[in-house]
Amino acid sequence: MTASAPSRFPHRHILGIEGMSPVEIGTLLDLAEGYIDVSTRKEKLGTLHGRTVMNLFFEDSTRTRTSFELAALRLGADVINMAVANSSVKKGETLIDTALTLHAMHPDVLIIRHPNSGAPHLLAQKLGCSVINAGDGSHEHPTQALLDALTIRRRKGTIAGLTVAICGDVAHSRVARSNIHLLQTMGARVRVVGPPTLMPPAIDRFGVEVFHDMKKGLTGCDIVMMLRLQLERMDGAFVPSLREYSHFYGLDHEMLAAAKPDALVMHPGPLNRGIEISTEVADEIDRSLILQQVEYGVATRMACLEAVVATLAEAGK
Ligand code: ASP
Repeated sequence: MTASAPSRFPHRHILGIEGMSPVEIGTLLDLAEGYIDVSTRKEKLGTLHGRTVMNLFFEDSTRTRTSFELAALRLGADVINMAVANSSVKKGETLIDTALTLHAMHPDVLIIRHPNSGAPHLLAQKLGCSVINAGDGSHEHPTQALLDALTIRRRKGTIAGLTVAICGDVAHSRVARSNIHLLQTMGARVRVVGPPTLMPPAIDRFGVEVFHDMKKGLTGCDIVMMLRLQLERMDGAFVPSLREYSHFYGLDHEMLAAAKPDALVMHPGPLNRGIEISTEVADEIDRSLILQQVEYGVATRMACLEAVVATLAEAGK
């Protein structure tokens, strides 16, 4: 598919997984699958030639920002990285003013990460370009869930019917929210595992099974998805001590033995080694998918960029 071919992903923005249909998710995953080899061979395509992609990151990021940048470059787009920490935002400019200023430079796609939930949605309403959410507060991180799904699908052949345990700091995790929506939409059974203090108040409404005992939560699981303890989003103490947290909720070999013998381990990064995951488990070549997640991130973001630009092109933009 090229940017001007009819798109089966009929949206100009990718703001969240919530509300996406199985067909839409499947379309993005199939597109991404087709880009894995291109990305591995470091090929440069012309699909987004003449398009401008702007990275606007209000929170630190290593893998997501570089992954979007590589994806856009591999599709032949021009890329601008806005180092927001050094910009006029520091001088008190509002989000909308910053966005309108940047928009005057005519980007086709704005990739935004912001500490406030809903910031990308606000920009999508105000601006004429496509907006892709690269993480908004504790709300959603849709491209992370898509790359996780691609990683699972390639390794297990399917998502439907799998049991996935999402473990740790669910309360502060946009990765958890996007994954819960995606995995359930694609037919997986989702469990969340962690201390009651790290569960969002309305977790019952997500339709997941909740476990506070890690071994029980992992029993019979196909995928163990660990989350980083998001200390920067914790105003007060959510865990008695890191040592105690790690003892009860850290994933080491002994804990992993509760899951199925062929269960695979995932983590969106960055890792707190020795807190939520042991170095031995994180680096176990046969069972840890952590580096594959990073690798498939580029192909996934190529797919997302192509899909939204195809919708723009259909609208004559
Ligand atoms: N990188 C992911 C995010 O931006 C996960 C994390 O930071 O723990 O949400």
